[in-house]
Amino acid sequence: MSLTEVLERLRAAEQQAGRPTGSVRLVAVSKGQPLERIREQVLARGHFPLAENRGQELRDKAAQLGPEVEWHFIGPLQRNKIKYLRPVRLIHTIETLWQAEALAEAAHGWGHAPELLLQRHNGEAQKHGSDPHELPGLLRAVQDTGLTVRGLMTMAPYGDPQRAEQVFADTARQAHDLGLGELSMGMSDDFPLAVQYGATLVRVGRLLFEDDPAAHPGALIG
Ligand SMILES: *Cc1c(COP(=O)(O)O)cnc(C)c1O
Repeated sequence: MSLTEVLERLRAAEQQAGRPTGSVRLVAVSKGQPLERIREQVLARGHFPLAENRGQELRDKAAQLGPEVEWHFIGPLQRNKIKYLRPVRLIHTIETLWQAEALAEAAHGWGHAPELLLQRHNGEAQKHGSDPHELPGLLRAVQDTGLTVRGLMTMAPYGDPQRAEQVFADTARQAHDLGLGELSMGMSDDFPLAVQYGATLVRVGRLLFEDDPAAHPGALIG
């Protein structure tokens, strides 16, 4: 599906949710995609943030694609790979305090700091994210490092729309309670649903880079 078509779906979802046009940003998940494809499918069509989940891949692509690209990181943070995240503007996946501390230290050397989202765990088999009960304490501790926390990020369980609704609703409520404005939730298969529950950033990969929309019936949810 083209970026134009994905944007049309996003704008339709905003409208259906009674939200202002443009209130949700499309983050193009470029992991695993070659540079040429990223240029063609995304960068040639406008200014959209690109997201990667591996440090080295992000560093290499950032060096090739130039300084205008706004980079986001959406993978698990490993201590020895934080050095690759220098080009990143927003990290969606902070789960523990040491990650923020290590980033704050790295940011000193870089002369600029990324902004952060805290990843919320939703039970299930999902490995990553902070337990919802620990998020308030984690937020305060991360803020004490001097870095800025903008919001929460979550991933809904795959292929279970009802459970996804619950996860999106709970995450939105907790972000509101914590006074956090950004909500990164929704992927190729569930972003229209996430928009109904207040997503401000949707992370779309496969749908943007695959040619056959029939492979994603779930994207029609919502
Ligand atoms: C890969 C990935 C996405 C994009 O998923 P698609 O199903 O390809 O749209 C979003 N968020 C995270 C954290 C990812 O790892």
